[in-house]
Amino acid sequence: MSQTSNHADEHVEQSSAIESEFDLIKELSDRLKGSGISDDSIKLINDAFEYARQKHDGQKRKNGENYIVHPVNVALIVAEYTNDVDAIMAALLHDTIEDTDATAEEITDQFGEQTCRLVEGVTKLGKYALASMEDRQAENFRRMFLAMANDVRVIVVKLSDRLHNMRTLHHLRPEKQQRIASETLEIFAPLANRLGIGKLRAELEDLSLKYLDAEAYQHIDENFAHTRDSRKRTINYVIEKLGGQLTNIRVEAKIKGRVKNHFSIYRKMKDQRKELKDIYDISAVRVIVEEEKDCYAVLGLVHNTFAPIPGRFKDYIAMPKSNLYRSLHTTVMGPLARPLEVQIRTQEMHDVAEYGIAAHWKYKESGGSEAKNDEAHVEEGLSWMRKMLEAQDDSDSASDYVQLVKLDLFRDEVFVFSPKGQVVDLPKGSTCVDFAYRIHTEVGHTCSGAIVNGKIVPLNHLLVNGDIVEIIRRKNAQPRLDWVHFVRTQTAKNRIRQWFKKHKRDEHEANGRRGLETELTKAVFDEVVKNGELLTIVSEMNYDNLEDAFVAIGYGELNLTRVVNRVKKLRTVAEQEDVLAQIKKFQKHRIKGPSGQKAPIPPLAGMLYNLARCCTPVPGEPIVGAVTRSRGVMVHQEDCQNLNHVTTERKMELYWAEDVELYHETHTVRLEVHVIDRVGVMKDILANIAETHTNVSNLRVKVNNDHTAFLELTVDVSNLPHVDRVKTAIKRIPDVIGVKRQQFRTGKAEQ
Ligand code: MN
Repeated sequence: MSQTSNHADEHVEQSSAIESEFDLIKELSDRLKGSGISDDSIKLINDAFEYARQKHDGQKRKNGENYIVHPVNVALIVAEYTNDVDAIMAALLHDTIEDTDATAEEITDQFGEQTCRLVEGVTKLGKYALASMEDRQAENFRRMFLAMANDVRVIVVKLSDRLHNMRTLHHLRPEKQQRIASETLEIFAPLANRLGIGKLRAELEDLSLKYLDAEAYQHIDENFAHTRDSRKRTINYVIEKLGGQLTNIRVEAKIKGRVKNHFSIYRKMKDQRKELKDIYDISAVRVIVEEEKDCYAVLGLVHNTFAPIPGRFKDYIAMPKSNLYRSLHTTVMGPLARPLEVQIRTQEMHDVAEYGIAAHWKYKESGGSEAKNDEAHVEEGLSWMRKMLEAQDDSDSASDYVQLVKLDLFRDEVFVFSPKGQVVDLPKGSTCVDFAYRIHTEVGHTCSGAIVNGKIVPLNHLLVNGDIVEIIRRKNAQPRLDWVHFVRTQTAKNRIRQWFKKHKRDEHEANGRRGLETELTKAVFDEVVKNGELLTIVSEMNYDNLEDAFVAIGYGELNLTRVVNRVKKLRTVAEQEDVLAQIKKFQKHRIKGPSGQKAPIPPLAGMLYNLARCCTPVPGEPIVGAVTRSRGVMVHQEDCQNLNHVTTERKMELYWAEDVELYHETHTVRLEVHVIDRVGVMKDILANIAETHTNVSNLRVKVNNDHTAFLELTVDVSNLPHVDRVKTAIKRIPDVIGVKRQQFRTGKAEQ
């Protein structure tokens, strides 16, 4: 244990006499006047006292004193560490918001926003009853306090509050004494240490020990008394040996004896399993010099005069501790051949050891003007605090590395409580569901709601420092897959996914898949799965893979229509691009035809195209193109049923050249003729067609039961007027019931 101890040799006995608040506030004013604080500031402080006194009027402490005595004592302690007027006012007011009808507005109004923020900070920290807890919990609490405090002055006021409560702990019931003492030892003393306020730490530790192990405390105390004389002799011996030499090298130095605090002796006994009589370095010598370079000069002198014990020299000047403690430590062979620890430091280093961060203010204060810049002030405190948080405690064990890494992430954490006061640390951005899963997997699986600070909130509610979180559970509740979108912790994410893997996942997956297949048609579904389009879409919706998305659709958390619409939209875009690409490609194919002949379908001039066989369009009739993937533009009759299967993007407006009469190319067309089935009718029809100079290339007959028949005629024509002439010729025969162009369905447009 290398932490320095800064305890005064003499212990101040706590007086149990009733104190007067007016004497105390006078003492405070006098002390502040002495340290050069302006009259205006002192008036403000007196106003704060008067305000708090009236608010607490009628309230008594356990020992019968007026309650206001406590805040004034706290202010006196704070004033030992800082002249910051806001902090001192906050100390006077620190219990008003919690325990009286005072409001934040009122305090802001009368004493400023800064003071109010400090009071609120202290109030917030006071809200948590900290039960005795295991180490890890304690560390969490300490970190939470720092995270919540925001302003280091809040911690200084809080520590001072605690110190005064510890000094007056004897008024409370023994169980309460135990609880408060162990909490002080576990939370507040280490906090003081982290902020480098050694003086406060030592007193908090000793007061705690007094209640936690009264016998040991007594034993150490008596020993201190017994050895006082011999310690004095040791100091005098050292002064005698060093004094003259110091004058020779012209170094001004104060040499003082000191005892370690009770608690650090106690801890040493425990750690080293030693009896008190076997611990030699109860006392130590401290040399205070003026300048840093003097420290090393004195060190040389000490080592020349007394035999140094190897391995015990530590240079905390070159390598300050993380709480900014600086000093030289060495252990030498002292009188009676007993090891004697010597600490060498400047007055400033000493103040930093005693007052930590507050010493920093002191030095600022004395050099600076009254009208200090509040923001700069706070910022300095914060950067100090961060510096201390970034490095870590005083021990150098390997496990510290882990601590260090953890503290690096400190600002990304939030600390919240279970209703029983358990602290849970979570990454920033965590929700009630993260909390539930952190408590227990089963709690996560069955959580159905949450209450934060007494209010019902949605499960995706973001948690902040200090929230008290209660999870509402239902026996039959089940996790929802969409939770993975808002949970922050990987643990929660994994647990939710695992649950779905285990429970009904297969069923949900099958349902989801089936739903998509039905909506998109199997063909489209297969295609978008194969070409990766579907994966792209579900990734945009935060699903890592198709299976998860199917499960989510099946489970109902992912809307099926939403996915289908996205697929359709994506395909439309893809198709338009595809069509453009195809058209470009087809334009490269030159149609072979008689040279000099004009294009019969001007929009397709020079392009690859085919006339669809399903409807066999002929020049002169309305036509529409369907862009295929490989066979050019398929030209259909406008009313061809197969066009129903062609998406709008693939359709192309077409028209025949106006002078189609001039084209003599032949087109094959099928005509369906409905006739009364009599002998010789077919011959008559063929004769009439022949009159129109039209070639019939195929003929099929289908006889019906009702004495009629269908003739399917395949004829070669050059254009629509030609078709009409053929049709008219056929219709001239009385036995013909009707003639129409034949179309057949392909199920899809020819592609
Ligand atoms: Mn208090």
